[in-house]
Amino acid sequence: MMPETVTGYMCATDWEFELGEAAGGNIVYASVADAKEHRKCLDGCGIVEVKVTFSRVIEKGNRWIDQLEPNPEGK
Ligand SMILES: [Zn+2]
Repeated sequence: MMPETVTGYMCATDWEFELGEAAGGNIVYASVADAKEHRKCLDGCGIVEVKVTFSRVIEKGNRWIDQLEPNPEGK
């Protein structure tokens, strides 16, 4: 089970100008090291720490069905 809030790291330009606006979305990295490894813009853009907080489920995908509905064959 995921915690309600997760700490992540983003390109500061993505945070300031792109989050919630950019087609294709923005990446939140698990660590500063991971961000630095995958984003070459960070020397110029900078890095911010963010907190991603769960709000609500919009659509239940297939994996939810497996979790929520017991297999009728008892498998
Ligand atoms: Zn950047």
